Amino acid sequence: MVTIRPITITGEPVLHTRAIEVAVITEEIRQLVADMYETMEAAPGVGLAAPQVGIGLRIFVFDWDDGDTHYRGEAINPELELSELSEEWPDEDSEVEGCLSIPGERFPLKRANVALLRATNLKGERYEINATGWLARIFQHEFDHLNGTLYADRLLKPYAREMKKIIKSEGWGVPGNSWMPGKDFLEP
Ligand code: ZN
Repeated sequence: MVTIRPITITGEPVLHTRAIEVAVITEEIRQLVADMYETMEAAPGVGLAAPQVGIGLRIFVFDWDDGDTHYRGEAINPELELSELSEEWPDEDSEVEGCLSIPGERFPLKRANVALLRATNLKGERYEINATGWLARIFQHEFDHLNGTLYADRLLKPYAREMKKIIKSEGWGVPGNSWMPGKDFLEP
């Protein structure tokens, strides 16, 4: 049976800790990945990392259609190679990012334009995707999650200040908060 799992909110220690490698793809891992797809879909989101459902393992799932190709998959023990990051200020319309673990908020953030993902799927096969644009952004965001980094940790100062205030006013930034896709935080 596939289950929607609650999504952890910033402050939960698993979100701020480096996740560990998956040693063997067991039935438990297959169940986790199936639940992650279900949870991502319900949220709804374009990516979800295992720490966001409270599991400190190096797994994320993604689901993105760039108009040409539908990219959907699980990335187990991923590696990511990035193109150089521009030092320009992020565009406040086209380079805005959000996170299911900081629900309802969005802030501008610059990401590398190209990201080469190498990862293992549930069959245990290694694969590669050379991503650009939004898919590259998704990969960077989800990969960060596996290293205990949220996009909030990468924001430029004025945005970081605003984000800090929001997190405090919501009562987040401490352990114990989560939300249930399909029930809480109905997306605008
Ligand atoms: Zn996130």
